[in-house]
Amino acid sequence: MLTLQEAQAAILTRVRAADRMESVPLARACGRFAAHALNAAVDNPAFDNSAMDGYALSSRDLATSAGMLPVMGESSCGSAPRKLTPGTAMRIFTGAPLPTGADTVVMQEDVRHDGGDRMHFPQDTPTGNHVRRRGDDFRAGEPLYAPGRRLSAFDLALLSAAGIAEVSVYARPRALVVATGDELVAPGQPLRPGQIYESNRLATLLQLEALGAEAVDGGTVHDDPAALRALLKDAGDYDFIITSGGASVGDHDLVKQVFAEIGEISFWKARIKPGKPVAFGRVGARAHFFALPGNPVSSLVTFKLFVEPAFYAWHHCQQPVLELPAIAANDFQRRPGRMEFLRARLWSESGELKAEVLAGQGSHQIGTLRHTNGFIRISEDSSGFAAGQRVHVLPL
Ligand code: AMP
Ligand code: MG
Repeated sequence: MLTLQEAQAAILTRVRAADRMESVPLARACGRFAAHALNAAVDNPAFDNSAMDGYALSSRDLATSAGMLPVMGESSCGSAPRKLTPGTAMRIFTGAPLPTGADTVVMQEDVRHDGGDRMHFPQDTPTGNHVRRRGDDFRAGEPLYAPGRRLSAFDLALLSAAGIAEVSVYARPRALVVATGDELVAPGQPLRPGQIYESNRLATLLQLEALGAEAVDGGTVHDDPAALRALLKDAGDYDFIITSGGASVGDHDLVKQVFAEIGEISFWKARIKPGKPVAFGRVGARAHFFALPGNPVSSLVTFKLFVEPAFYAWHHCQQPVLELPAIAANDFQRRPGRMEFLRARLWSESGELKAEVLAGQGSHQIGTLRHTNGFIRISEDSSGFAAGQRVHVLPL
């Protein structure tokens, strides 16, 4: 059975990355992945300008005038000012261009009016004070983002400031989501004996949408290979096929059987807890399939551990993973063997991150997620930890 790292490596080597792209305006690019390098079209700032409301002057004039200068003219935002008359200061506002001849700005709070036609400027004002230099942030032509970057709202604001109107991004992958199980009923229907309300399909659809996929609801199928086979008839047209349930070794576990027929299974178990019965493979030249376990928590954990990195890799990008050290708030003992992800509550206290293992770690206990804001990761050979010991956590 593969370890987590081996299983993730197997996925990453088998992902067939996106080759379809499209150009979209910035307002529609949030969460999308850049398909090309993005370079600045302009310098930022585009011209020397003032960081304050105040007065622009020449530091040489300041030194030779004992700080007493008349004020002539004004530089305001949105237009080019005339040249600074030698021996004078110019009124200026935040973001307005520094007039030719000026090299320094004195903020208005530091200026005194001495009654006459001159103003007094502090003589110890350093040259270049409160001046934002052209290009001190980035230069025209400078590479801002590499291909594969997942564009955030901040990134798009930056690109807008850099004069970019549209970006080339990878087309959204199409993902089919199917739940399997004779016992599954949609909420809103009455529950007959032996039935349960279905939850994995919704979680998977919503997580895929949050990642930027075009998620297609394939519904729920019974534990019948023929039904699943019929549903997956055209599955090779999707980029991702994600099933839940039917992947362990029970008599009704049909998913593996059907995927073995229509595609190629790369692995079908991983040494992790929860989520051991998880399978990955490919169907045709395009589709990647993940058979996630049926237990709701296993389904969520395996989505994070396997589907997310594959999704990033599909976009020519490496998934950012944030693992932090924390101090255990309670004891946890177990039998070593599998890498384990414990639902935990994380908080900071006196400058330290604390992690409490929550009660209710059964993989069916979705209720525990109410209190969960992270996982504690335990390595395979570990038999647990005591309160006060250092643990690894993955904030959610
Ligand atoms: P399976 O992997 O099909 O053996 O299912 C393992 C457990 O997860 C069983 O208790 C199932 O009833 C439950 N289960 C399977 N699919 C779902 C689902 N879509 N939503 C909620 N629970 C499920
Ligand atoms: Mg089942």
